[in-house]
Amino acid sequence: MEKVRVRYAPSPTGHLHIGGARTALFNYLFAKHYDGDFIFRLEDTDIERNIEGGEASQLDNLAWLGIVPDESPLNPNPKYAPYRQMERLDIYRKYANELLQRGLAYKCFCTPEELDAEHERQVAAGKAPMYNGKCRNLTAEEVAEKEAAGIPYTIRLRVPENKTYEFEDMIRGHVSFESNDIGDWVIVKANGIPTYNFAVVIDDHTMDITHVFRGEEHLSNTPKQLMLYEMFGWQPPIYGHMTLIVNEQRKKLSKRDESIMQFVSQYKDEGYLPDAMFNFMALLGWSPEGEQEIFTKEELIKEFSEKRLSKSPSMFDKNKLTWVNNRYIKERSLEDVVALCRPYLEEAYDLSTKSEQWINDLIATYHDQLSYGKEIVGLVDLFFNDELVLDDEAKEFMKDESIPNTLAVFKKHLEAVEDFTKENVQACIKATQKEAKVRGKMLYMPLRIATTGIMHGPDLASSICLLGKEKVLSRL
Ligand code: GLU
Repeated sequence: MEKVRVRYAPSPTGHLHIGGARTALFNYLFAKHYDGDFIFRLEDTDIERNIEGGEASQLDNLAWLGIVPDESPLNPNPKYAPYRQMERLDIYRKYANELLQRGLAYKCFCTPEELDAEHERQVAAGKAPMYNGKCRNLTAEEVAEKEAAGIPYTIRLRVPENKTYEFEDMIRGHVSFESNDIGDWVIVKANGIPTYNFAVVIDDHTMDITHVFRGEEHLSNTPKQLMLYEMFGWQPPIYGHMTLIVNEQRKKLSKRDESIMQFVSQYKDEGYLPDAMFNFMALLGWSPEGEQEIFTKEELIKEFSEKRLSKSPSMFDKNKLTWVNNRYIKERSLEDVVALCRPYLEEAYDLSTKSEQWINDLIATYHDQLSYGKEIVGLVDLFFNDELVLDDEAKEFMKDESIPNTLAVFKKHLEAVEDFTKENVQACIKATQKEAKVRGKMLYMPLRIATTGIMHGPDLASSICLLGKEKVLSRL
């Protein structure tokens, strides 16, 4: 097999989206599985939509995920450079001229107004809109005249008639399109900049791209690309069109959907772990052979098979996301988790009166249940609030007549403790059980509610230690 070369080719029109990241990830896994190269290329021809820093944001977020391209604008292979389309205009021009010379493309002088009006007429007549071929057969003189008059023109591909374009998609199997359904399409815009479908073919061919994994929205672009390969006599890459990512309501993820964080940087900002995100995203449209769900990057590279890419939409399952992230956080050392959480705590609370030990103990208390760094802020809120606010359920519970005695006994034992450690507090709980003759829920729940205000929380003795003797006694 020739060396596998795949590419991820975003437009720098925004930050790295979950969908884009997944495309990059599957291309990356495929490349690494077959010992190939993963290339990052920039489709920056839509100048108005490009955003400042778009390329860097894509690359930085990919790097955060652990996806570092073998070739990119920052790490070019001279054989294939440049990697930004706007720096490759000469290359496209050369190929567009070749098509013009061979009569496979022609100059079109129709104005946008004319084209719009024609489009509306066709739609009104219930037809699929398509270029009507007005400039298809202009004579050389007519073309020269219009050019001399300075009329702007696009270059259109002369789409062959009555042809079927077919290919074997790695994910969808056999796909075919009829050329008669495709109007002569623009390969170079009036401003001299190539369109996506034209540039992508030139790039994929000149960069020796062997396989292409991309979103299914590009499926209908593929016949346009295949006709170019045929005209130039080039071998097309092998395509795989990945299914959509949908939300839990099975609706296509739209950038406006607020139920899901859509940008990789948001996950980074909230303190998700990159290796966990890598793992989670690999399962978004791909499934391994067995039941295993937690994989290191190396395992994923080894296990990855394009044959197991999903044919149906992949649901972005938020529970799975938190589950996977929690699994990774649990595996991390306390030191790592403290480093992860601390900035969020610092931002949310005044830590100036807290010792390092206290902060470590606080985070340690939540180490096992945490799914992402910032989650700590909401969880530890009770340790920073002076006021104890009980909800109705807790208030109701506290009406039991055994409770005042339980609390009084516990308070007495705590008062006697000199060294306020978890072990000593635990011993006081035990002593209260014996003396007040209460156990289980009737022991733990009153103590928990009276000291922390909540009915469910982390280990009771640890919580009491973190609150400190003074505060706990006053609450009791
Ligand atoms: N810039 C295109 C996109 O982001 C690339 C499409 C392709 O991979 O061919 O969707």
